[in-house]
Amino acid sequence: MLQTATTIQEIRSTVRAWKQQGLTVGLVPTMGYLHAGHESLVKAAVASCDRVVASVFVNPTQFGPNEDLATYPRDFAHDCQVLEKAGCHLVFHPEPSEMYPEGFCTYVENLSAMPQQLCGKTRPIHFRGVCTVVCKLFNIVQPDKAFFGQKDAQQLAIIKRMVKDLSLDIEIVGCPIVRESDGLAKSSRNVYLNQSERQAALVLSQAVRLGQELIAAGEKDCATILAKMCQVIESTPIARIDYVAAVDGQTMLPLETVTPGMLFAMAVYIGKTRLIDNFSVAN
Ligand code: AMP
Repeated sequence: MLQTATTIQEIRSTVRAWKQQGLTVGLVPTMGYLHAGHESLVKAAVASCDRVVASVFVNPTQFGPNEDLATYPRDFAHDCQVLEKAGCHLVFHPEPSEMYPEGFCTYVENLSAMPQQLCGKTRPIHFRGVCTVVCKLFNIVQPDKAFFGQKDAQQLAIIKRMVKDLSLDIEIVGCPIVRESDGLAKSSRNVYLNQSERQAALVLSQAVRLGQELIAAGEKDCATILAKMCQVIESTPIARIDYVAAVDGQTMLPLETVTPGMLFAMAVYIGKTRLIDNFSVAN
């Protein structure tokens, strides 16, 4: 049975009771409007932890002034159904004032070049907001493990770095990208797409596949691969590239030659909707 909590205190007392019984705890942070991608994270958590907490919180500090905070899709009743079915035990659904009390002024920020690459170029405060809210969720829930999707590969790398730098005693588990049957990566923002945009959005996964094929065929030059991926995307008039990049999997800094563990990542506007996708090169 899924239990719901809106306050930090409720989470703390429930988790404390679990830990007293010697149970392990997994955390799945989300912004809600849950789909099969989120569900896969919850299932991975259920498979390796005794108790699973999911958070559903549209975090205001990770949205820029002209972004979609106000219109971000929300459906908490449906989220609870998805969580319950996936075996989640507790959902944390706080008000912004619970997470950001009056006078809030302390942030967690990665000061390297890492959060300025890729999505950081158009979203300069995004990863500061992500690190701050995830660090708070870690302190509130105190999980043994936390589960994140590789769909947000830069976020995953930045969180792993934060855990290392701040000596947090939490195992970060990265989970594979879940896609629609036609290849589009599942995203809460896919709901913004109209029918023709939904079709055009396939260029992201097509570019991913092309990049993977070129590497499998032995191509080693990142610029050549990126140019071909861009060509695929640009063949669709309503697709506008934000970035398509080849970077080190840990630092997010550009690479010229295909290297094991590296990341090919992209953000593309389809109409007004900004979508991301990526793939990692096998180690
Ligand atoms: P969000 O609610 O979009 O902030 O995402 C919450 C978590 O779900 C993040 O760790 C995401 O990387 C992960 N996630 C979102 N979409 C997918 C997907 N298609 N496949 C796997 N994980 C995903």
